[in-house]
Parts: sequence; structure tokens; C-alpha cells
Amino acid sequence: MITRKAYAKINLCLDVLRRRPDGYHDVKMIMQTVGIYDVLTFEKKEEPGITLTVDHAEIPADGDNLIVKAARLVTDTYQIKEGIHISLQKNIPIAAGMAGGSTDAAAVFHGLKELFDLPMSVEEMKALGVKIGADVPYCIEGGTKLSEGIGEVLTPLLAPPKAHLVIAKPDINVSTKFVYENLHANSLAYHPDVDGMTEALAQGDLQGITKRLGNVLETVTVKEYPVIEEIKTLLKEKGALNALMSGSGPTVFGIFADEKEAETARESVLLKGLAKQVFVTEFVN
Ligand code: ATP
Repeated sequence: MITRKAYAKINLCLDVLRRRPDGYHDVKMIMQTVGIYDVLTFEKKEEPGITLTVDHAEIPADGDNLIVKAARLVTDTYQIKEGIHISLQKNIPIAAGMAGGSTDAAAVFHGLKELFDLPMSVEEMKALGVKIGADVPYCIEGGTKLSEGIGEVLTPLLAPPKAHLVIAKPDINVSTKFVYENLHANSLAYHPDVDGMTEALAQGDLQGITKRLGNVLETVTVKEYPVIEEIKTLLKEKGALNALMSGSGPTVFGIFADEKEAETARESVLLKGLAKQVFVTEFVN
């Protein structure tokens, strides 16, 4: 049996450059792995086919799950006839803007490579992964990356300096599709300074990083769900250097220099009932 952790991500910057004629969007994002993860186990089984058990009622355990889609791509590509059983322990908030499904799919490529000793390179994994979702290639690599194209063009960046994160997922589920469909991609008044963020990362400048946090998808999601702004404000009042919505939301993260302040901020978010799922964690590289 093989066990793998599938880590969530946040976006330090998320810019949308344009809507493409095929409906996809060209993006320019800075992705960062954080210390919240699902746990997947992989084992061979006697009966042929792919089965999945999930410890969470909201998540499909059938062919709609990105885990099953990824496993089918691998078994088709490498003509694997043996049966596979996968189990998922879900810790990453769902429909949250943290790439929960995409990171599970990414873990499947790594897990099945190991289980069957497959000659599958990271480039091959990414080429298969992008068929499942634009964020899957990033999740296969993880770390600190500039992500362009629809998300599949990845450039490694220097990891941010150590900091403490409060990550809060309000009790609403946001569909990524809804957010992108309601984004006026070709007439955005504001674009985050992605190049400046890259430079701040290269300098190891935490203030420079926090000053440049930006996400154009806030224009859609925050308007719909004011609780996001409330959490951002509270985190900043409680000592966050800055706070931002991750991905298409509704998850908010705050970056703290001080761990105790981060713990206190977490308590405040819980006490005020702004979110039920609130974590204190760190960047992972
Ligand atoms: P992203 O940041 O990529 O937009 P997300 O965090 O907004 O992702 P997910 O939690 O990945 O959203 O998934 C949203 C929906 O996808 C869920 O409501 C669920 O029905 C479906 N889904 C399919 N496979 C998975 C999976 N392995 N984990 C979570 N959700 C899954």
C-alpha cells in the first residue's frame, strides 16, 4: 500500500489576462503550497477496475471524482489491467479555491507511478493532468510557481520567507465556473503586480510580498459574499501583514509574522462565527 499527502495551494497573486475564444482564461498567477493536505492511499486489488472510498458525504466517490478520472487516464495510457483501490481522507476545504480536487488528481499520478513502477516522467504526468484541470500540472509539481497560459505554463520562483498563515473557509461553497463566468476579464480596472511579487520573492522580502497580494477574482466573489471582506478586515485588525481571497474563493488567508497573533486571529474568526474551518499553518516548499 502506498500513501501520499496531497497539499492545498493558495494564490499570492491571481491575474486574469483575457477570456479566450474557447472559453478558457489566460491567467498569470503565483501559486504557493500550504500545510493543509488530504491523504490518499493506493493499493492493488484482485477484482479489476478502480474503486474509491471517501470519508466525506459531499464528495462523489464515482467517476465524477477527479481521483477516478486521473486513475483512468493512467490505466488507459499504461494499459494497466489490475484492479486499484484508492481511499481519500479529505482535510482540504471543499469548493474553496484551494485546488482540493486538482491536488488529489495530482497525487494519483505520483501514487500510481510508485504502485506500478511506471516509467512516467513529471512532464508526462503534467501532460495527462492538464486534461483533468488547469491547476493539475501545478499540483503535480507544487511549491512556489508562476503559472501562465491556462495554468499549465509553470516557472519556479523562490519560496517566500517563513511566515504564519491563518486560512479561513466561510461556510459557503463557491463554484469556480460561476466566478469566471461573471468576471469581466477584458475590462478589469485593477491588475495585481505579479512581476513585483516575483521580485519580492527573489529578495526574500516578506513586507514586499504581503504588500503585493492581489486577486482579480475578488471583484466577483466578494461582491456576492461580503463575509470574505469581513474576514480580511478582522485578520488585518488582529495583526496580519495583509489578507487575500485564494483562487475563486471563498477561502481567505492572512499572512502573519508572529505565530501567537495568528493563533489569536484564528480564535477571533471562530468566535465571531465568520468561518467554521480555520487553520493556522505555513508555506510548504
Ligand atoms: P479550485 O481551487 O481548483 O477551484 P476548489 O477548491 O474550488 O478547487 P474542489 O474542492 O476541488 O474546488 O472541488 C469542487 C467540486 O468538485 C466538489 O464540490 C466536488 O463535487 C467535486 N470533486 C470532484 N473530485 C473531487 C475531489 N477529489 N475532492 C474534492 N472535490 C471533488
